[in-house]
Amino acid sequence: MQLQMVDLKRQYQRLKAEIDEAVDKVLYSGQFIRGPELVQFEQELATYVGVTHAIGVANGTDALQIVYMSLGIGPGDEVITPAFTFIATAEAAAILGATPVFADIEPDSFNLDPECVEALITPRTRAIVPVHLFGRAADMNAIQAIADHHGIPVIEDNAQSIGATVNGHKTGSLGRLSTCSFFPSKNLGACGDGGAVLTSDPEMAEHVRMITNHGGRHKYYNEIIGMNSRLDALQAAILRVKLRHLDIFNEARRTAATSYDKCFAGHSGVRIPSEPSWGRHVYHQYTIRVRARDELAAHLTSRGVPHGIYYPVPLPQLPVFRGNARCGPLPVTEAACKEVISLPMHTELTDKQVTCIAETVLEFVSQSGHE
Ligand SMILES: *Cc1c(COP(=O)(O)O)cnc(C)c1O
Repeated sequence: MQLQMVDLKRQYQRLKAEIDEAVDKVLYSGQFIRGPELVQFEQELATYVGVTHAIGVANGTDALQIVYMSLGIGPGDEVITPAFTFIATAEAAAILGATPVFADIEPDSFNLDPECVEALITPRTRAIVPVHLFGRAADMNAIQAIADHHGIPVIEDNAQSIGATVNGHKTGSLGRLSTCSFFPSKNLGACGDGGAVLTSDPEMAEHVRMITNHGGRHKYYNEIIGMNSRLDALQAAILRVKLRHLDIFNEARRTAATSYDKCFAGHSGVRIPSEPSWGRHVYHQYTIRVRARDELAAHLTSRGVPHGIYYPVPLPQLPVFRGNARCGPLPVTEAACKEVISLPMHTELTDKQVTCIAETVLEFVSQSGHE
C-alpha cells in the first residue's frame, strides 16, 4: 500500500477542474500582484475566521514578524511562546532583536500551559503567543485572562489550526492579532508559500498593511521601515478554491482521527490525542505518544509507513537560541520531545489506510512489551 504523510497529488486531482480554472483566470488577466483575487480572498478568509480584516503576506513566518513589528517589538523586549512548536514562532521575534521566552506545555494538548506563562511574565513582556498546535486550540480563556491582568496583547499563531474552535469561535479570531500559514501541507494549503495576518482592530490592520508594503500607505511615500511581503494573485486564487472546501477537508481529517482512535482504543501503550470539551480539533497532525518512540519510528520505516517527529528538540535547547533566550522549567516539553510521533494525516486518507497504519504501530507496541 502506497502511503503518504500528506497526499497533495490526490487532493489536486480531486479539485483539478476548479483549481485549473482559477489559475487560468489569473494567467489570462495578466494581474499577478494584488488584484481582485487577493482582495476577495482576504475578505473571504476574514469572514471564515470571524474577524474584520485579513492581510495576505508571503508566508506564515513573515506574518509573525510583521505582527511583532506592528506592536513595535524589538531589542530588550520579551515574547513568550511555547518551547514545543515550530521554530518560526520564536525566530520571528529573535530576528527583531527581541528575546524569546519559552514556556512549558500541557501534556494532553501539547499547548502553552497558562500557569507557566504567568510565571515568566516580566515588565519587558510585550506579547504572549499561544500556538494552536497540531489542530487543537490552546486554552485561550485562561491565557487571555492572564494577559488581560498584565495588560499584554495575545497573538495567536494559527498556522496549524485554521477551522478549529473555542466555545464556537474560530481560532485566529480570539487574540489581538493572529497569523496563518498556507504552506502546502497546512490545513489550508497553497501551491507554494503564503500566509496572512488577521485582526478586528482597524488601526492595527492599516499598520500591518503598511508594513507589508514597504512601510507606506501610498506609492513612493514611505512612512516607516517595512518589508515586501505579499500573497500573490495565483496563490490567492487557488486558496479561494481551497477555502470553499476547508470545512470538508477538516471533516475528512476528523474522520481519519476517529478511525485511528478506534484502532488504538484499549491499547494503553499508545496515548492518543484528545479533543477538548469546549472546542473542535482539526487534526493538522495525528500525534500519539509512546515509550520507545525511536524504535517505533524505525519499525514504521522498515514497513514503509511514513511518520514525522514534531518536534524532537525543545526550542531553547537548539544552538540558535543559546545565549539569546530565556525559559522556565520544561519537564513536559522534554518528555513530549522523546515520546511524540505523528502518523499520516491528510484529506485523502482512507479507512483501510488508517487501519493498516494503526496495525503496524500496534504490531510493534505489543511485540516490544510496551502494551
Ligand atoms: C508552518 C508554521 C509556521 C510558519 O509558516 P511558513 O508559512 O512555513 O513560514 C509558523 N508557525 C507554526 C506553528 C507553523 O506550523
